[in-house]
Amino acid sequence: MTELLCNYLGGRWQTGTGAGTVLRDPVLGTELVRVDATGHDLAEGFAFAREQGGAALRALTYRQRGALLAETLKVLQANREAYEEIATANSGTVKNDSAVDIDGGLFTLGVYARMGDTLGDRQHLLDGDMARLGKDPLFQSQHVMTPTRGVALFINAFNFPSWGLWEKAAPALLSGVPVIIKPATATAWLTQRMVKDVVDAGVLPAGALSVICGSSAGLLDQLQAFDVVSFTGSADTAAVIRSHPAITRRSVRVNIEADSLNSALLLPDAGAEALDLLAKEVAREMTVKSGQKCTAIRRVFVPQAQYEAAAQAISARLAKTTVGNPRNPSVRMGALVSREQLQSVHEGLALLKTQTQVLHDGAQHALVDADAALACCVGPTLLGVGTAAASDSAQLVHDTEVFGPVATLLPYRDLPHALDLVRRGQGSLVTSLYGGDPAALAAAALALADSHGRVHIISPDVAALQTGHGNVMPQSLHGGPGRAGGGEELGGARALNFYHRRSALQASTLVLAQVQATSPAASAP
Ligand code: NAP
Repeated sequence: MTELLCNYLGGRWQTGTGAGTVLRDPVLGTELVRVDATGHDLAEGFAFAREQGGAALRALTYRQRGALLAETLKVLQANREAYEEIATANSGTVKNDSAVDIDGGLFTLGVYARMGDTLGDRQHLLDGDMARLGKDPLFQSQHVMTPTRGVALFINAFNFPSWGLWEKAAPALLSGVPVIIKPATATAWLTQRMVKDVVDAGVLPAGALSVICGSSAGLLDQLQAFDVVSFTGSADTAAVIRSHPAITRRSVRVNIEADSLNSALLLPDAGAEALDLLAKEVAREMTVKSGQKCTAIRRVFVPQAQYEAAAQAISARLAKTTVGNPRNPSVRMGALVSREQLQSVHEGLALLKTQTQVLHDGAQHALVDADAALACCVGPTLLGVGTAAASDSAQLVHDTEVFGPVATLLPYRDLPHALDLVRRGQGSLVTSLYGGDPAALAAAALALADSHGRVHIISPDVAALQTGHGNVMPQSLHGGPGRAGGGEELGGARALNFYHRRSALQASTLVLAQVQATSPAASAP
C-alpha cells in the first residue's frame, strides 16, 4: 500500500486512523500517496495553535517574524528539487507551470519577509492619525491594529498547493497569527511536504504552522470568535462555508476567493500591435497550468471588425502547443489534475458548445508520450460566437467557468457594449485591457475597476515589462467582488489587515503619544 502522509497538529505528527484517499499521477494513473484526517483531536489541535503558537508569535516584533519567514524561505529553497518532482507527479505540470506555483509561493514569502524589516521592532500598527473628539485637543481618538488572538484556518484549492499556502501564510505569520492549512485533497502532497520540511527544520515556534490533509469534516466547528478563515475554491463550497454557524453566529472573519469569468478586452481602434499582444496573452493564459488558474482569461472581447483576425491569431498560437507527459521536454502543456477535472472540463465544453462555435479544437492535439485512455490531458480549445448580438445572447459564456484550457472569443459593437459584456461576469478577479491610447486605456480601466479586483493594462510600451494577466503579484490586490467571492488578499501591507483587529483608542493625547511611539503607520508599502 502507498505511504500515508502524516498530519501535523497539536505540535506533533499524527496519522489518520482511516484507510485514506489515494492521490494519483494524473498522467500515468499510478498511485502516489494517501491522505487521511480521521480520528484527530481537532479541538486540542486548534487550541494548541491558538494558545501556544499564537502567544509565541505575538511575543515577537514584525521584524523578528519577518526573520522567521526568511528562515522558512531558506528551508524551502534548499528542498526545491523535491517540490518539483512532487508537482510533476501529482499535478502533472511541466517545469514552467510547476514554477508558477512553487517559485510564486517562495517569491511571495520573500516579499513579506522583507516587509518585516520595514514594519520594524513593533507589535502593533497605527491606522491613520489622531482625531480630535471635541474642542479641547487633549482628548483624542487614535485607531490601532493589533493581531487577532485566534488561529487562521486556510482551506485551499487544488491548483496552487504551494502558492496558495504561502500567499496566505506569509501575511498571517508576519501579523503574529498561527496557521492551520487544509489543502485540497487531490494535490495535498506538495503542501504537506513543504510544511513538513519547515516543521522539521524547527524554524517556527511550536503551533505556528499546522497541516491537516484529508477531509474537511469538523474543521469549521472548531472556529472561535477571534479566529479567521480563508477559503479558496468553488462558489458552491464557498456558499456552504458562508452559512456555517461559526461565521453566521460567532462572526468569524472569512475571506472567500471563488471562481471567476475573467476577461481580456481589445479596445476599439487599438491597432495591430495591440491585437498581437492580446493574442499572445490569451494563448498563454489558456495553456499555463492547463488553464487551471483562477485568474485565467475565459472571455475575450474584440471589436466586431477584428473578430476573424483575433480568431486566427489566437488559434495559430494554440496550434503550436504540444500536450502530454510533462516529463517529455517537447511538451509545453501537461495534464489536468484528476479524472474528475477532466470529466468536468469535457462537460463544461459540451455546455458552452451549445451556444458557440469551435474556432480551435483541442481534440486535434495528439498527446505526446501519454496514453489518452489514462492521462488527464486535454488540448486547448478556443470557442467563438461570431456576432455582437450573439455575445449578448450566449449567456452560458458569461456564467460557466470551465476550469481548463478553454476560452471564448466574443465580438462587440462599441465600447459601451464591450464594458457591459465584461461586467456580465458579475465581478471578476482580473480583466486585461489592450490598446495604444493612454487616455482611452485609463478611462476603460476606471470604468471596470469597481467590478474587478485587478485591472491589468497592456500598451506597447510595457509589452516586454508587464507581469502577465494571470500572475498574482504580492504588491497588488488579489480577489474580486461578487461572483469572485468578495475577498481581498495580498496588495502589499494591505494583506495584514485581515489578521489584525482595528480598534479606536480614546484617550489623553499624552497616552496616545505613547501608543504612537511604539507603532509604525499601517500604510506601510
Ligand atoms: P472545491 O471543490 O470548492 O474545494 C476547495 C477546498 O474546499 C478543498 O480543500 C476541499 O477539500 C474543501 N472543501 C470541500 N467541501 C468542503 C466543505 N463542505 N467544507 C469545507 N471545505 C470543503 O474547489 P477546487 O475544485 O479545489 O478548486 C477549483 C475552484 O477554485 C475553481 O472554481 C477556481 O476558480 C477556484 N479558485 C479560485 C482561486 C482564487 O484565488 N479566487 C484560486 C484557485 C482556485 P477536498 O479537496 O478535500 O474536497
